[in-house]
Amino acid sequence: MSHRKLPDRDKDALLRTEALEQAQRISLILLVIIGAAILLLSGRAVFLRLNTAPHPESTSSAVAILTQSARATRPPITSLPPRRVGIVAGHWQYDSGAVCPDGLTEVEINLDVARRVAALLLQGGYNVEVLGEFSPKLQGYEADALVSIHTDSCNIPEASGFKVARVLHSAVPEEEDRLVECLRQEYERATGLYYHKDSITYDMQEYHAFYEIAPQTPGAIIEIGFMDADRVLLTEHADLVAEGIARGIICFLEGPPE
Ligand SMILES: [Zn+2]
Repeated sequence: MSHRKLPDRDKDALLRTEALEQAQRISLILLVIIGAAILLLSGRAVFLRLNTAPHPESTSSAVAILTQSARATRPPITSLPPRRVGIVAGHWQYDSGAVCPDGLTEVEINLDVARRVAALLLQGGYNVEVLGEFSPKLQGYEADALVSIHTDSCNIPEASGFKVARVLHSAVPEEEDRLVECLRQEYERATGLYYHKDSITYDMQEYHAFYEIAPQTPGAIIEIGFMDADRVLLTEHADLVAEGIARGIICFLEGPPE
């Protein structure tokens, strides 16, 4: 087997060719890397640009930050702040209110119902708080509605039914009449109780909180029933009592269902 020895000239040429090919391979690899990097960066830029529009399901923190800054510069399109409702639990944090001979107090009924009303409104997406009878918050209180919950005493054993009133001299009479009417209608529907249209007392119309809240805040007071004759409804079916009031408030805030 013979092996022809290459002349030195040919050897140099071969070495040059190999070096050239090596250089070409390196530049090709570099080109591929640069190309890939450009593609990657431009793809990411497009992705981020697409995601700067409000995008509630977005999970990436970078996208979230960009989304926030985009929102900050734009006025909100849909989100109105939730409607604010104040519920006064009659006598709460002050006294017991009416007391029956067996010890049942008005305040325990009022507070139970007020908390149930608040829970229902909260579920409906309203911003609601339960206030004490003389809560300092009532001074200049601004809300979309304020409703105070009271119960009539055990003093007239045969008396049954409910009453709703607003302040005598109202700054927003149409609004407050509508609030009273919504409460009357929905409370009657939910509880089946008789509505005492003609026995609204001066005390109800001159209720102290009406003179503390901001004049533009529509307010009403409801006497939800009598602690003797309506006791079963008030203590054992407080869910219905609360539903009637919550529906009345929603009727006022949203208008009656179509
Ligand atoms: Zn009371």
